[in-house]
Amino acid sequence: MRKVALITGVTGQDGSYLAEFLLEKGYEVHGIKRRASLFNTQRVDHIYQDPHVEHQNFVLHYGDLTDSSNLTRILQEVQPDEVYNLGAQSHVAVSFESPEYTADVDAMGTLRLLEAIRFLGLEKKTKFYQASTSELYGLVQETPQKETTPFHPRSPYAVAKLYAYWIAVNYREAYGMYACNGILFNHESPRRGETFVTRKITRGLANIAQGLESCLYMGNMDALRDWGHAKDYVRMQWLMLQQDQPEDFVIATGVQYSVREFIVWSARELGIELDFQGSGVDEQGVVTSVSGDRAPSVKVGDVLVRVDPRYFRPAEVETLLGDPTKAKEKLGWVPEITAQEMCREMVTEDLKTARRHALLKKHGLEVPVTLENGS
Ligand code: NDP
Repeated sequence: MRKVALITGVTGQDGSYLAEFLLEKGYEVHGIKRRASLFNTQRVDHIYQDPHVEHQNFVLHYGDLTDSSNLTRILQEVQPDEVYNLGAQSHVAVSFESPEYTADVDAMGTLRLLEAIRFLGLEKKTKFYQASTSELYGLVQETPQKETTPFHPRSPYAVAKLYAYWIAVNYREAYGMYACNGILFNHESPRRGETFVTRKITRGLANIAQGLESCLYMGNMDALRDWGHAKDYVRMQWLMLQQDQPEDFVIATGVQYSVREFIVWSARELGIELDFQGSGVDEQGVVTSVSGDRAPSVKVGDVLVRVDPRYFRPAEVETLLGDPTKAKEKLGWVPEITAQEMCREMVTEDLKTARRHALLKKHGLEVPVTLENGS
């Protein structure tokens, strides 16, 4: 009997990699997608299966984490062996703009799913993975952060995820459910949402190199993060549900870089050397190009990056560094892709798109570039 998995957030970065991974393992994969006025399945279109074919093993259901009856109906229909709760309003900066919605989806959504599993009597059959986050550590109490490090969330997103973390633990303790938290540090890929900092950098600089944009506006460039590749991290999400006992794990690389370093790597991939003037938290901070021989639209002395205080957060998380020792020792997990390799892959993909768009522009055709600057 092949295993059945249900993924919330299947149209997101992690959901798409996880769906691919589980399909390769022979799972029947069900995913919940939100109704949107435009197509929102670009990240899973390559694995889409026509519902008219026999033995369909990838099925999408309309649904929403804010809708209990919908979640209950899908769970009843699918009877999953494993549920991966990846769906979330996942953007820290946006959570300051929409705190109540973030709490509804990220905190209450998790409760709705767990309660639906229990209500349907699936609590002994269905294993549950909760996408927890290093943002729980926020104002860090210990470096590096591990499973026992106290939490101090610094955004409505992180506070909502703190509830989700504890309700998953509570259902494990109260009802004997196989529920576990993966406390994942930042992980990126060419599929990362365009407004998250790494993708904002790789996409913005690729567009600048091709003359589609002139300047990248940044928030705190001194923030330190532990960046891994989403592909490595979804493998770990699955591994966590294959153990005899449910446990919580930190998933991280154990190596930390600044946003500024990520900018330098991305620019270098595009043949641009940068000169930073002012600090990443200095409102006057600018970054000019020193040379840009491989970037056709960049001249020496061009200001390519400016600090814009609009992108500072009401409460910043300055530094995050994870200790993945438990995952390494208990699950034999080691990340295979370094942050620099990941950055190269992201720039390569964004440059391909920028080149296509530059060509369209050259021929007077409409360029489907959204200039939203992210956060
Ligand atoms: P994404 O933002 O790429 O994906 C989020 C997914 O959730 C999308 O499919 C989105 O749908 C869906 N979603 C949003 N709101 C709802 C809702 N109301 N009901 C149902 N689905 C909804 O995030 P990632 O893939 O990067 O992250 C996956 C999970 O891991 C998230 O929970 C995130 O908070 C968490 N996490 C991520 C980290 C990272 O560095 N990437 C680090 C730690 C934790 P749509 O496509 O329609 O917007």
